[in-house]
Amino acid sequence: MRGPSFFAGALIASLVGLTTGAAAQSCPGKPDALGVSRVVEVDTTGGPGFGFEQYKAHDFLGMKEVVLTFDDGPWPNNTRAVLEALAQHCAKATFFPIGKHALWHPEILKEVAAAGHTIGSHTWSHANLGKAKGDKATDEIEKGVSAVKIALGKAPAPFFRFPYLQDPKEQVAYLGTRSIAIFSHDIDSFDFKMRKPEDVVKSVMQKLDKKGKGIILMHDFQQATAKAMAELLKELKAKGYVLVHMTAKAPVTTLPHWDELAKAEVKGPTGGDRPTSSVVRTITAAPK
Ligand SMILES: [Zn+2]
Repeated sequence: MRGPSFFAGALIASLVGLTTGAAAQSCPGKPDALGVSRVVEVDTTGGPGFGFEQYKAHDFLGMKEVVLTFDDGPWPNNTRAVLEALAQHCAKATFFPIGKHALWHPEILKEVAAAGHTIGSHTWSHANLGKAKGDKATDEIEKGVSAVKIALGKAPAPFFRFPYLQDPKEQVAYLGTRSIAIFSHDIDSFDFKMRKPEDVVKSVMQKLDKKGKGIILMHDFQQATAKAMAELLKELKAKGYVLVHMTAKAPVTTLPHWDELAKAEVKGPTGGDRPTSSVVRTITAAPK
């Protein structure tokens, strides 16, 4: 879409830079794919907040524009099902993985990155930072960022989402000093309460029809969401919504203290610097 909303977006380009044109992707051979209509680059200096549910300073989406976000992964089966559905539509999303899950399933998280999605973080163990105080809260944030970096083999985006959206002001201020942007949402799918994929699709589409745009919060951790993605992307396309892909101007800088703490959580003396296929290979196999 290149209507008035496009120009409205351009007005706040100092914070959220626009990279359109060459970066706006089509989806070759798939005319019914959602694709990506706009790629934005976020300058996270000072830790800006996004998602009108909690943070109203920066509204960078025009009408009919949506951003897809997925929390709590990476998780076997479900994350890959989400990736597969997104790939069918040449769609790009932002993932907020839990540090522990990232170290349990680094290969899945690497697939998320390889597919061109943006990866932020979502604490080390999904602690409620509204209850965790002082150093404990900082540990959760920083160890989560470091764990994602170790799992990925490179620093993720300085993008963060608070578990349960519990955002004590001390931690909001801390993230500001770290220039890590905070993401709330405009549309909460409440997919974690649902077992049927069709309920996830209905929940998102009904809320979107009311608001007309927004950052959508979902969970690649959830099976119902994984199963709903193909239908949801089809519905978004059919209803005229377009996708905005968020990227970071620069990767996050992790802190050595927490890199060490996260590294100590990796099982075994050597982590995953070599792919399993180069460590263990099949040399004989029974004929099929
Ligand atoms: Zn979460």
